[in-house]
Amino acid sequence: MSLETEARSVDLEVDTLVVVWADEHVSRFGLVELRRRCTCAQCRELRQRGEMIWPKPGVPETLELTGAELVGGWGLSLRWNDRHETGIYPWETLRAWCRCELCTRS
Ligand SMILES: [Zn+2]
Ligand SMILES: [Zn+2]
Repeated sequence: MSLETEARSVDLEVDTLVVVWADEHVSRFGLVELRRRCTCAQCRELRQRGEMIWPKPGVPETLELTGAELVGGWGLSLRWNDRHETGIYPWETLRAWCRCELCTRS
């Protein structure tokens, strides 16, 4: 595993998930953005049909993480307060989604 896709720490700062990578790069992801980009088959299908993943009727007003778990070293499983928990976010994907100044400069 390369340093670029190895997470050293994952923290939640209010509505932002902060990932510090082994190469000291820091990525910040808004929770709504992460929820909308959920990688599970169900959400992928919704996106393909052009349907909104978040917000939608009947969900809590504010999106919150209710849990996060490492999945065998290759990714992060996120549990949401709309009871959705099937999405696993591979580290590689998260790193590719990084929109920090460094990553967006080129
Ligand atoms: Zn999903
Ligand atoms: Zn970056």
